[in-house]
Amino acid sequence: MSLQHEKGVALVTGAGRGIGKAIALRLAGCGYHVVCVSQSAGSCGAAAEEINQNGGSAEALAVDVSDATAVREACESILGKHEVVDVLVNNAGITRDGLLLRMSEDDWDQVMATNLSSCFYWVKGLSRPMTRKRHGRIINISSVVGLMGNAGQVNYAAAKAGMLGFTKSLAREFAGRSVTANVVAPGFIDTDMTSSLTDEVRGKISAQIPLKRLGKADDIAAMVEFLASEEANYITGQVFTVDGGMVM
Ligand code: NAD
Repeated sequence: MSLQHEKGVALVTGAGRGIGKAIALRLAGCGYHVVCVSQSAGSCGAAAEEINQNGGSAEALAVDVSDATAVREACESILGKHEVVDVLVNNAGITRDGLLLRMSEDDWDQVMATNLSSCFYWVKGLSRPMTRKRHGRIINISSVVGLMGNAGQVNYAAAKAGMLGFTKSLAREFAGRSVTANVVAPGFIDTDMTSSLTDEVRGKISAQIPLKRLGKADDIAAMVEFLASEEANYITGQVFTVDGGMVM
């Protein structure tokens, strides 16, 4: 039996905390049933519980997004329960920073698998019903680092830049089916990923941002909410930086 939800179903990876959690809460607030995916059952479970306790509708699914088989099985299970996932947000990501000469092959592979290959696995697993319905939104969370590069992040920058080519190609493949694909590229956002930065580094970063501060997770979620909406139906293959003006 497939469950029907008024606004549709959204799936957000890395929904346990930070930007992904803010996106999950926003989409739930818009009326979507949200499938909160994270590596740990505890964190995605807590995000889904928060949504359900606040009158929204959500479920949690612990999946390692870098594992092709695990994602394929998760997609089969989700599509066995819901007819279609209308909005797919590929947000899960990791960093394994280091200068190229000191970077291990494992650091390269892990970052590529988690940040980039995962997008391919989820789109492959969930896009067929979207194209059949002739409606869908794919929103991939990249980074300004994918546009600018960053010393010490060749792996992360390559994966995030790869998401741009991936998304633009998808946009062309799916346009005839009214399924849009776009990228949101955050600048420096205050989350656990950036919490290890010292106050001195934060100060230096803020000084280089025209708006003179780090962004909030909800600043990214607001852009995702717009791209998921009907108002964004004529926007595809685009990259939206949400970065306080870093990239102009
Ligand atoms: P975060 O580290 O706070 O959260 C990342 C989430 O991804 C966590 O819920 C984690 O469980 C999940 N995740 C990581 N590896 C996973 C795996 N293998 N399988 C399933 N889930 C996994 O990060 P964040 O700051 O909220 O960033 C979210 C996204 O935004 C990432 O893709 C990141 O690269 C991107 N981004 C963040 C910033 C920033 O300044 N925070 C800037 C640019 C881009």
